[in-house]
Formats: sequence, structure tokens, C-alpha cells
Amino acid sequence: MPATTAAAAIPSDADDAGFRAEVRRFLDAALTPELRLAGRRTAGIFTDAPAGRPWFRALAKQGWSVPHWPVEWGGTGWTARQHDIFASECAAAHAPALAPQGVRMVAPVVLAYGTEEQKQRWLPGIRNGDDYWCQGYSEPGSGSDLASLQCRAVRDGDHYVVNGTKIWTTHAQWANRIFCLVRTSTSGKPQQGISFLLFDMDLPGITVRPIISISGDHELNQVFFDDVRVPASALLGQENQGWIIAKYLLVHERGGTYTPALRARLVRLQAMATAAFATRPADDAERQAVATGLADALCRVDALHALEQQVLADRMRGVDHPVAPNVGKLLGTELRQHLTELAVTIAGPYAAARLPAGEAGAHALALPEDALWAMGTYLNDRAASIYAGTNEVQRNLIAQHLLAAH
Ligand SMILES: Cc1cc2nc3c(=O)[nH]c(=O)nc-3n(C[C@H](O)[C@H](O)[C@H](O)COP(=O)(O)OP(=O)(O)OC[C@H]3O[C@@H](n4cnc5c(N)ncnc54)[C@H](O)[C@@H]3O)c2cc1C
Repeated sequence: MPATTAAAAIPSDADDAGFRAEVRRFLDAALTPELRLAGRRTAGIFTDAPAGRPWFRALAKQGWSVPHWPVEWGGTGWTARQHDIFASECAAAHAPALAPQGVRMVAPVVLAYGTEEQKQRWLPGIRNGDDYWCQGYSEPGSGSDLASLQCRAVRDGDHYVVNGTKIWTTHAQWANRIFCLVRTSTSGKPQQGISFLLFDMDLPGITVRPIISISGDHELNQVFFDDVRVPASALLGQENQGWIIAKYLLVHERGGTYTPALRARLVRLQAMATAAFATRPADDAERQAVATGLADALCRVDALHALEQQVLADRMRGVDHPVAPNVGKLLGTELRQHLTELAVTIAGPYAAARLPAGEAGAHALALPEDALWAMGTYLNDRAASIYAGTNEVQRNLIAQHLLAAH
């Protein structure tokens, strides 16, 4: 192959700059002040659906709602670098943080394990934003030890009859669909009796009860199933083989990139610190401690960014690193929590102020706006080392892999 052709196939810095400019133009036009405010005020894991859904639909209109999917199903075919640019620009512009249960969690398993009919049935609604999904994995008593789950599904003709409960179900109050792990057999190892069902949340017998988090936000729920008749066509893969699908999904749940959001958060903290210490002398001890903390955090964000880019580029070349999602989740979570601790330090006594996000927009604030976000985010982020598998469980998985390799 002539050298010029090979060189043309590799995206240049100029291509990257052109792509970045295109993304910025789109964000300038599509991100309304209300959407940006919702993004800035998001203290929970994801932006609430009333702002998240319109933003997702705007992305869908642009053809950018499912960039990682295969091109034939609506993916963009971007390079690893372009994915990173897109995510970074969205985070820097304070776009709402989108809930991943549809696009990044259930869609990859439908693509991998669904029949053609199931793909046609489930994927378009995720891509265009008509459907909003929630994840029914955890139960009271079954979290880290997920295989012990008890929610039961019994086959009855063309239906499964589901009884039991799921807990910590993020955004279930807005979801019209759920993917659910259910027990279809009690013989053999616990893992061997689990099946994977996808169904509608408006079926008779489903009740959603809110759980209010320590920050006062309503993101979590407990969902109860009382003789819910689920069409058997909702079974993904084979009966009693749901555990393999469940694990495949967890890799995608943990496999995202963390640094775009972390870097945007760090930039925000730098601005907060500049404003907070504007009147203090440069040698002020507290000011210096915060500056050192921010510089240290920047190094850690850069290091994680390099790792994520390497993993993403390898994955797109077909090379997988089995524990990369676990390492990324662990490091990303620790950094995320570290940054929110810094945010509370910078906000100082203002961090104690409480004003619901919805109301805050209606008031002239007597305190820096970011201070309102600091404590809510700090409290919500305590959960980051628990959801999607606790940090201890990630460490176990990394250790098992490394020990097995030696
Ligand atoms: C904000 C939030 C959102 C969530 N969203 C969802 C959702 O949408 N859908 C869903 O299904 N679930 C969701 N979860 C549930 C989450 O997946 C579980 O909380 C998590 O798997 C931990 O399970 P657990 O809470 O039962 O804790 P446990 O498993 O009881 O763990 C308690 C403690 O013991 C430690 N531990 C447990 N086992 C081991 C071990 N083998 N080795 C070392 N330490 C161990 C844990 O690390 C933890 O510190 C969410 C949780 C949170 C906090």
C-alpha cells in the first residue's frame, strides 16, 4: 500500500479539530439554557429523566444517541479519539448526564444474545428515546452475591408468572421497561437457575416504591412483582442461562469511560477555588493545600485518561483486556469521590446550604451556585463505590484474574 494512502487512513490532528468544532456547533445549538442548568445541577448519578429525555431525543435527531452501537443499528462508526472528544465536549458543556440502562447496558446484550425479532423489537425504541429502561438485578439480600437472587418466574403457557422484589432500581419511577434477572430453577448451582427477562413496567402487578437517598434525591426505588404475567417471548437467550448474559452486561455497565466527566468536574473545581480564594494571599496555607489537591487530582485524571484511551483503542481493534472495566471502575470511582471531597472543602460552610435543584433556579442565590451542588454530589457519590459492583468486589475480580495469570 502506498505510504500516502496509509497515512490518509489515520485521523490527523486536523481531522480531530474539525470533528471537535462540529460537536461544539451542535452543542451550542442543541443545548438549551434549561438543559445546561439541569446538567450543572445534577448531583445524582444521572440527570433526572424530565431533562435527560429531551436531551437524548436531541442527540437521536442528530444521529448521535447510540454512538458505540454497530453502524447498521445506528452507531456512528467514530474512532476511539472521536468518542473521547464527543464525551469530553458534552461534559464540558454541562450536557445532562444520560442514564445508561438502555443504550449501554441492555442494548449490548440484546445485540449479542437477542433473536433478530427481539433486536427489531427492543433496539429502535432505545435508539430514538421512546423507551426508558431500568435494571432489575439487586434484591434485598442479593447484591454482591447476585447469584443468590430469589425473584421467581414460573412458566405458565405462553407466559412467565413473576413474583418477588428488586431493590435500588435506579430511575424505575420513569422507566417504561425493565430488564430483570429471575429464578427459573432451584436445582443445581444458583447460577444455573437464572433467566433474563425484558418486559414492560405497566404490566398489572408491578408496584414501584421510592427510596430517598441521603442527599434527599429520588433516584432509587424498590420494585415489587405480584403475579406479573410476562410474555415468554421476553426471554433473552435460553431459560436458565441468564447468568452468562448478566455477566456480559456487567462488563458493559463497568466498561464506560470516566475521565470526560472527571475532567469537566475538575475544571469546575478549579473555577470554584479561584473564586473562593480570590481575596486570600498566595501563601495562604488553605489555599495552597487546595491547589496541591487539585494538581494531584489532575495528574490522576491524566493517568486514567491515558489508560482509558489505550483500552478503547485496543477494543476497537478487537483486543480485549478482561479486567480493564474493573480497573477503570475502581480508579474512576475513587477519583470521583476524591473530587467531591475537594468540592466540599472549597465550598466551606456554604456546602451546608440545602435548596432543591428545581427551586434554586427561581432564587437569587446569596452563595456561589456551585456550593449548592457540592454537598449533594458529595453525598450521592458515596454510593459510587457500591453500585455496579462494590470496590471490594472489583478488587477481588482483579486479583483473581492476575493470580490466575501467574
Ligand atoms: C446508587 C445506587 C444505584 C443502584 N442502582 C441499581 C440498579 O439500577 N439496579 C440494580 O439491580 N441494582 C442497583 N444498585 C445495587 C448495587 O448493585 C448493589 O448495592 C451492590 O451490588 C452491592 O450489593 P449490596 O448493597 O447488597 O451490598 P452487599 O453485597 O451486602 O455488600 C456489603 C459490603 O460487603 C462487601 N462485600 C460483599 N461481598 C464481598 C466479597 N466477596 N469480598 C469482599 N467484600 C465483600 C461489599 O463490598 C460491601 O462493602 C444500586 C446501588 C446504589 C447504591
